[in-house]
Formats: sequence, structure tokens, C-alpha cells
Amino acid sequence: MPAYEVLYSPIFREHRPKEYHPENPSRLEYAIEGLKEHNLWINVREPEDTTITELLKVHGREHVELIRKLSTGFDYLDPDTYVSPGTWEAALKALGASKEVALSAMEKKGLYLALVRPPGHHAGKDGRAFNAPSLGFCIFNNAAFAAYTLKELKGKVVIVDFDAHHGNGTQEIFWNDPNIIHIDIHERDIYPWSGYEHDIGGRDAKGTKINIPMPHYSTDDDYIFAWREVVLPILEEIKPEVVLVSAGFDGFRGEYLTMLRLTERFFRYAGSTLSRYSLAVILEGGYNVGLKKGLPAFIESYLNEKDVEEIAHPGYEAIKTVESVVEIQREWWGI
Ligand SMILES: [Zn+2]
Repeated sequence: MPAYEVLYSPIFREHRPKEYHPENPSRLEYAIEGLKEHNLWINVREPEDTTITELLKVHGREHVELIRKLSTGFDYLDPDTYVSPGTWEAALKALGASKEVALSAMEKKGLYLALVRPPGHHAGKDGRAFNAPSLGFCIFNNAAFAAYTLKELKGKVVIVDFDAHHGNGTQEIFWNDPNIIHIDIHERDIYPWSGYEHDIGGRDAKGTKINIPMPHYSTDDDYIFAWREVVLPILEEIKPEVVLVSAGFDGFRGEYLTMLRLTERFFRYAGSTLSRYSLAVILEGGYNVGLKKGLPAFIESYLNEKDVEEIAHPGYEAIKTVESVVEIQREWWGI
């Protein structure tokens, strides 16, 4: 059985909105409840903190100082994203957890979950990334920080982001970095309005950014199809020891921030097909049922190591999307 560990701290609850906000501490309760139901609330460990020097590898000093300053009280960075008195400590600890899961995944094969808040994949180097109107609930980029950690040791890093939204922050940070391969599957034409098929990376990094912008209302069948046609063959070609996963569960049916209609079936499939790799899993989005059901389904099926065979019946729009991604990425990958 592969190793399994959860990096978690009660400090992650101290990043708190003043009024109702979907990104609030109860998200962690949904996740923990779901993990407990599946006997996966085990091997829980408190992560280390991060130093500012380390943090400056990922973010500009101005963004870092702004968060530290605002975190003495309560404020909004933009209409979507708040900072509260506990934000600074929570965000530093979230980075620490993300670094640790990356290191553990490298050391021993298994699944290492950074069950963190605030989330990170919309945070670019200096704040908002590309043309995003806001930071989308994110403070510092946890996945990018983990990727830097791995890159220093391994040279090449693979990130798979299946949050319902495009991981624009992560993509912006590594846009010109040919050593960071970033595969991102998400719903198209919603916040942060980026991550289209033709977005393939900067001049010296073309083909290292793979975007799969799925149609609205995509189902398990659509996602399984795209995963099998694009995500898996690229991973097989790279054969990484470690895959860094930006894991968002907001595409789950019944979550209210997107129109995707995924269920346990896709998350089980995703977990099972990644079971040949060691995983550093970093929590991104997911606001209610996705965390309760999608997260444990993903982990459980990874740990089972049994191949989940799925016959997918994708819709026309999903087939078209996958065809266009393949057409563009074929120049760099054997897909
Ligand atoms: Zn999201």
C-alpha cells in the first residue's frame, strides 16, 4: 500500500471572512468530515512554517508586504478576496504544508495531501494574474511554491490542475519556464477568463503549458474522455516520479460556483489513473459537497491502486475541445 499523509493545521481556519463568503473555514470541516467517513482522517501532521525569504522565490516583495500589512486587520484585496487577522499565519503555513508534501512525495511513493487554506492557484507573482479581475480568493501560490521546491531538486516538474477554474496564477508564474509542465483542465469562459487551447507557454516554453478548456455543463464522461486522451498520455511520456496536483473539487455537481457536473466517478478515475505516480496534492477550490465526496473518492481510489476502467461517452462539444487541444499540442507531445 502506498504511503498516505495529511498535512493540516487549525491555523488554516484563522483566515476568516467577516460576512458570508464561500471561501470560509467550514470548507475544512466538509473535507475532514468526508475523510473521516472514509477512514482517511489518519496520519495527520502539523506542517512547518515558511520564511519570507523562501516566499520571495514565488512572489514579489510588494505583494508579500501588502498581505502582511493588511493582515493586521480586516480588508479586501479586491471584491472577491479578503484578508483577515489570521491570514498571514495561515498563508505561510499553507506554503509550508505544500513544500512538505512535495518533499515527502519525492522521498517515498504515496499520496501526501496539503489540506490548506487560503487556496493559491489564482495568485500570480505580483497578485492578479493575466487578465483576471481579482485574486479569486487566493493569497499566495501554494502549488507554485511546491513546484519551486521540486524544481531545485529534480530539475523538471509536472503540475496537474483539475480545479474547475483555470490555474492562471501558477501558469503566469511559470509561463516562460520550460522545466515546469503544467496541465490544466477547467471550465472555459468563466473566471479567470484564461486557459484556452492556444495558451501553450512563452517563447522558450512552448508546449509546456497544456490547457484543456472544457465546455459548460461538462460531465464525468466528458472529463474522463479528456483525461484519457490528453492528461494520461502526456504523463506517460514524461514518466515523472512525482506529480504535483492542484486539487480543486468545485466542479462537483451541487457545488455552486461553476456549471460542471462531475461526480465521484470522475474523481475516482483520476485518483486511480494517477496511482502509478507519487502525488503531492494541494487543495485549491471546493466549497461543500465536492470536498465531502470528491476529495475522499480521489484519495481512496489512488490508495486502492486498482485500475478503474471507464467507458466514456463524451458529448460533441467535449470531443471538439479535446480534438483542438490534441491538434495544437501534437507538435510537442505524442498525443
Ligand atoms: Zn476553482
